[in-house]
Amino acid sequence: MGLDPKALALRTIITLPDPRLRNVCEPVPEVDQAVRALMTDLLETMYDAPGIGLAAAQIAIKKRVIVIDVAKRKDDSASADPMVFANPEILWASEETSSYEEGCLSIPEYYEEVIRPARVRVGFLDRDNKRQEIEADGILSTCLQHEIDHLNGVLFIDHISKLKRDRVIKKFTKAAKQAGPDKKSGGRDMPAV
Ligand SMILES: [Zn+2]
Repeated sequence: MGLDPKALALRTIITLPDPRLRNVCEPVPEVDQAVRALMTDLLETMYDAPGIGLAAAQIAIKKRVIVIDVAKRKDDSASADPMVFANPEILWASEETSSYEEGCLSIPEYYEEVIRPARVRVGFLDRDNKRQEIEADGILSTCLQHEIDHLNGVLFIDHISKLKRDRVIKKFTKAAKQAGPDKKSGGRDMPAV
């Protein structure tokens, strides 16, 4: 991690087949100082990876907290637009679907098309412990659903065919036995989340 003091907040992202990715996370009673610190760590870890979303489950913390920033994707020089969510909950999902080639920081360098509801409305607690709702479409909608899945122990490979899923799990299980995972995600249709 180097000697950069900023790096001190970086957490280790766990990867397939780590069983902790299957943990169901618990709601936070409120967004207090500790939860805000977790949000900050998640954001710094996400930017460093780099990715556009990260769930607490991915750093082996069993709390329902996620962070997202889809702004940087459009233009690397664009200012960051960090979004933080505690206890996010899908209140409504459209019948209309959309498909994105998804990736995941916990399943490095693996990408597959996933079909999900095109639009969702999500309720959550913000950084100030205030109840908020957001309606999202496009990549933000996909990212929210992907991250909320993480809080329920669900991975994007659970949405693809069993054949493909079994193949990728086998590949990562084999790789984990041979070497420690230390790979960066590549830029594809959708950056890793
Ligand atoms: Zn993910």
